[in-house]
Amino acid sequence: MIPTQTTERLYYLDSTLREFAGRVVARQELAGRPAVALDRTAFYPTGGGQPHDTGALRPRGAPEGVVHVVDVIADDGLVWHVLDAPLPADDVVGALDWARRLDHMQQHTGQHVLSQAFVQTRDAETVAFHLGVNTSTIDLNRVDLGPDDLAATEAAAEAVANAVIDEARPVTATFYDEAALDQVPLRKPPKVSGQIRVVQVAGYDWSACGGTHVSNTAQIGLIKIIGTERRGPETRVTFLCGGRARADYARLTTLADGLVARFTTSQDELLAAVDRLLAEGKAVRRELGELEAAWVASTADALWAAARPAGDRRVIAVAVDYSVERAKRVAQALRGRPGAVVVVGVRGERPQLICTRADDVTLDAGDLLRTAVTVGGGRGGGRPDWAQGGVPTDAALDVALAAAARSLDAT
Ligand SMILES: [Zn+2]
Repeated sequence: MIPTQTTERLYYLDSTLREFAGRVVARQELAGRPAVALDRTAFYPTGGGQPHDTGALRPRGAPEGVVHVVDVIADDGLVWHVLDAPLPADDVVGALDWARRLDHMQQHTGQHVLSQAFVQTRDAETVAFHLGVNTSTIDLNRVDLGPDDLAATEAAAEAVANAVIDEARPVTATFYDEAALDQVPLRKPPKVSGQIRVVQVAGYDWSACGGTHVSNTAQIGLIKIIGTERRGPETRVTFLCGGRARADYARLTTLADGLVARFTTSQDELLAAVDRLLAEGKAVRRELGELEAAWVASTADALWAAARPAGDRRVIAVAVDYSVERAKRVAQALRGRPGAVVVVGVRGERPQLICTRADDVTLDAGDLLRTAVTVGGGRGGGRPDWAQGGVPTDAALDVALAAAARSLDAT
């Protein structure tokens, strides 16, 4: 039976609490794992865009029996701690994974600061917040920000937000009766009623929020917007705070160093170096295309000159060593000539056979190909004017080519 009790949420008044004592008031199984509800907890349950804490519970006064908290779920006033093993006691000590909690507090408090910055710089309201594993997002109720304007808005909001970090403003949480809320300049109306928890960044932002926050904006460290995108009627802003922003700075420095080394230039010259490389690549590809076209034309001419006359037809049956793509181009060039019947075998790791013919030739290239590759122990097919198949080995390719020649002689 689950008692009609609620869990006292210690993080409401002290988000810096890392360890606490509590008592199990209920037990159940959640998704195949043991779970306990405590009379009091510092563990934050998933909610309000913020993921749950992790950590450990252990019997009070005993060194053995530590179990890990893998999920935390709020349900009807109780906070459930989902465990990786059964907890062998009712009187327990809980300890948070502090690195994870501090990271969440940096991102979440950074969100409050950034959301207020968008209100002040562009009158843009935050309608949603998500604290992700790698990045966090807020959705703004504005889409009328063109690309240039968006960049300017990003820069302006980021500057306001980081100034608030530099000012090291205290962050506090206070409970208000709903009736007293009109004295508080809330950024947006609360979603809950009754006793309302208001998180305030001194003299800057007031938000109804049940999450965990750092106690001073300086602890956010840094706010960096890393992307914006339009999503339906909203603009999604992706950002990093604190340790995540520093890690991203380190990642970008490694990336820039790698590029600088490869281009043997300075960071300032990188974009110009990349532009030059792209232009060179484009010119080389154009020249290569021209050379390839000339090579295909002269190769087709040589094969055509050596073609075997057979009534109205001229038969070209050859094995080649270049790529299948090249062989296809040569075959295409040849089938444009009246009377052409073309069988090209391409040697290599995966030998291929191509059969095609001119439009004025009545011959089913698909039938011809199937006959040839079947004799060669392979398979393939295609249209009456173009077919392609594969055989296992170069020796099998020679067998298939010979079979195609015999079949042509018989028609
Ligand atoms: Zn919050």
